[in-house]
Amino acid sequence: MQSKVRARPAQAPKVGFVSLGCPKATVDSEHILTRLRAEGYLIAPSYESADVVVVNTCGFIDSAVEESLDAIGEAVRENGKVIVTGCLGAKGAVIRDAHPEVLAVTGPHATDEVMTAIHEHLPKPHDPYTDLVPPQGIRLTPKHYAYLKISEGCNHRCSFCIIPSMRGDLVSRPVGEVLQEAEHLVRSGVKELLVISQDTSAYGVDVKYRTGFHKGRPVKTRMNELVAALGELGVWTRLHYVYPYPHVDDVIPLMAEGRVLPYLDVPFQHASPRILKLMKRPASAENNLARVQAWRAACPDITLRSTFIVGFPGETEAEFEEMLDFLDAAELDRVGCFAYSPVDGAAANALPDPVPEDIKHDRLARFMESQASISTRRLAAKVGREMTVLVDGIDDEHVIARSPADAPEIDGIVYVQPDASLKVGEFARVRIDSADTHDLFATVVPS
Ligand code: SF4
Repeated sequence: MQSKVRARPAQAPKVGFVSLGCPKATVDSEHILTRLRAEGYLIAPSYESADVVVVNTCGFIDSAVEESLDAIGEAVRENGKVIVTGCLGAKGAVIRDAHPEVLAVTGPHATDEVMTAIHEHLPKPHDPYTDLVPPQGIRLTPKHYAYLKISEGCNHRCSFCIIPSMRGDLVSRPVGEVLQEAEHLVRSGVKELLVISQDTSAYGVDVKYRTGFHKGRPVKTRMNELVAALGELGVWTRLHYVYPYPHVDDVIPLMAEGRVLPYLDVPFQHASPRILKLMKRPASAENNLARVQAWRAACPDITLRSTFIVGFPGETEAEFEEMLDFLDAAELDRVGCFAYSPVDGAAANALPDPVPEDIKHDRLARFMESQASISTRRLAAKVGREMTVLVDGIDDEHVIARSPADAPEIDGIVYVQPDASLKVGEFARVRIDSADTHDLFATVVPS
């Protein structure tokens, strides 16, 4: 019986590989070569037949540095497209001084970063038989917005939460990989990137803010650098789950300059220092009100969203009122609130003085009432203003859109008068006609 053998696409991309150094470097090379073959790349036997060359270097002693620099020079001369990795890669400046034309430089044990650089300069072969997934992945969101997950797990131990015990400590995704995914999404038509994680402000802490690479440029694995790079993609970038640490102040100018959306989702959870300490919240010692006021001074258009918990064990009436006072003073734009309920396995279950259910629900109602009047006031101040909105949906009667102040699913809506120029997934310029407690009503500004 004859079996049908499917040939590989004739033009499978070929990677040349030069591996120097000790057994640890050899293992790194094996990991990279395994990934290359698994993704359908071929390994080229010579410089001439390679589409790109990877040089895995050694930097242990001077003679190893010399040998590595010579190997890079040879690859540049013979092929021209060279990606450098390995121990000498940790001293990027030495390599770039000697060979400024290299495409990317990564340190040792950096398979993900090397693969990201290869994908960038020699795209992964598309195999219609096995590639069931488009480059941007399969998404459950509409075509025009997408969640961009930058890390998994969490290093905090909030007493009401069991996420770290389920998902482990923080593991940040390589910055080059995140930026490449963002680019794929934008190329596939995404107009809004929603950055998510358990703690976006902690991005890169686990890898000591290691330098990664994007388009041959070094980028640190750190929130501010990531956000600046996302801001260059020309779409809306919205930040979720950011804690009020001092370094967050540095992203506010990017918002004021319009490079990323002037929007921060900061889950404060409470305002009483004693309760925040019992909750073991990140940044609980910070002066949150002063920080919010400084953010508003630097970027008057900033929208602040937050979530709170009322009725945490031991919360007194005075501590609850402290939270209401904070809400009033901070004038947060969008707020979600929950009555505390114990989660199986959470440390807070052992705390004394649980708040009775009727008091919890009374506090929740008072909290929401207070927030409703703040929200009404803040939205009323937008009447008469022009703004850009992103159209989410159109039916016979309504056009549903969102402004920079509205994250999908959790914030408000801008209802726009039907207009032939409006298209789902496109931006539009509108004027705000009226507002209610949570939503805005608008008409298209004629162009
Ligand atoms: S609630 Fe606290 S412990 Fe839980 S994921 Fe958020 S920051 Fe981490």
